[in-house]
Amino acid sequence: MNAPEESPAPGDRVGVYLCECHSRGLSEKFDFDDLAAFAKEFPQTVLLRRDSKLCGDSSLEQLKSDIVDHDLDRVLLATCAPDKHLEEFREAAGEAGMNRYLVNSVNIREQISAIHQGDPGKARDKARDQFAMGMADLLATKPSSKVYALVDETICNGCEICYTVCDKDTISMVPDPYGRVSKVANVAPEKCWGCGVCVTSCPVDALDMTVYSNAQMLSQLDTFLSRISSDCTNALVFACHWCAYQAADAAGAAGIPIDPDFRMIRTLCSGRIDPNWVLKALSKGADGGLLMGGKPTKCHFKSGNLRTMTRMKLIKLLLDQMGLDRRRFRVEWVNPEEPEVYAQVVNEFISDLRELGPNPLLSRDSDYSHAKDGK
Ligand code: SF4
Ligand code: SF4
Repeated sequence: MNAPEESPAPGDRVGVYLCECHSRGLSEKFDFDDLAAFAKEFPQTVLLRRDSKLCGDSSLEQLKSDIVDHDLDRVLLATCAPDKHLEEFREAAGEAGMNRYLVNSVNIREQISAIHQGDPGKARDKARDQFAMGMADLLATKPSSKVYALVDETICNGCEICYTVCDKDTISMVPDPYGRVSKVANVAPEKCWGCGVCVTSCPVDALDMTVYSNAQMLSQLDTFLSRISSDCTNALVFACHWCAYQAADAAGAAGIPIDPDFRMIRTLCSGRIDPNWVLKALSKGADGGLLMGGKPTKCHFKSGNLRTMTRMKLIKLLLDQMGLDRRRFRVEWVNPEEPEVYAQVVNEFISDLRELGPNPLLSRDSDYSHAKDGK
């Protein structure tokens, strides 16, 4: 356990669990010492445990006693894919009195150590970045009973867009309790499947998610932007959990080599990805943005991917106006059983970005100030 120089804010005492996954022989191919040292630098890290094999009942029992003994508020696992063991850790944390969503994971195995073995230095840097993004995400997470959309009735103007786009018939329009407008949206949490398509569709930002919230997504994006490096190509990949992310995990499980110069933000559905996030990333220095979701007819949430397809067309036009090459943004579709397609798309995208060179907007700040003044 380390002794942080600063004390964590109330509610932010984090226990970090780092799995070296000796069963896969990854400890010889990935710099776990560096990641452990990096994790300790966060003032919120009050406990760091390293394990050669974190999956197993003894680890769950350890977690439960740690939560009580070390007064943990949140837990960050630096382990394998979230589909593997995150659920078990969340259940165990729940038994120790912690809200399940205050436990989250950073995928060090399938998404980093298994696919970037050809470049240990870049794998180390990427692990640091993804860990920092995971920590930001965790600290922005609020306790919740489940993932569902929330309406701020004081902002909703009753436009009915969310009502129209929801494929689950979860939203109804009800009389405005404040009498500002005739009706406002109302979400039935028990029916909501958490795709987030409505949130991204709302023109006045009246919607958010309980988990995968705007604050969580933006905290990851801001952390990515704050860590942009001049030593590599800085690509940002947005991947939906049920298709593209599964393909990425399958690529990791198969050990398919992938260019390490990208960082990833995971959403439940590609329909949750806000075009503004892509524009923010590109306008603040990302060299490129790649959005990946499931192919048409394969969307876990029915038509979230089709809505994404329509929305994202606008971005290409805006890139022209920003003076950015259109190749800096791509939307691609990949199904879970297509790890080779995933690897090929990512590798090609980063290769294109390398050819284009660094994002030119980074060096044009002074020109912007003149444009603003009308000079
Ligand atoms: S899209 Fe937004 S403003 Fe329109 S009804 Fe839904 S919550 Fe209200
Ligand atoms: S998150 Fe998805 S299922 Fe839930 S209300 Fe919004 S569009 Fe409907």
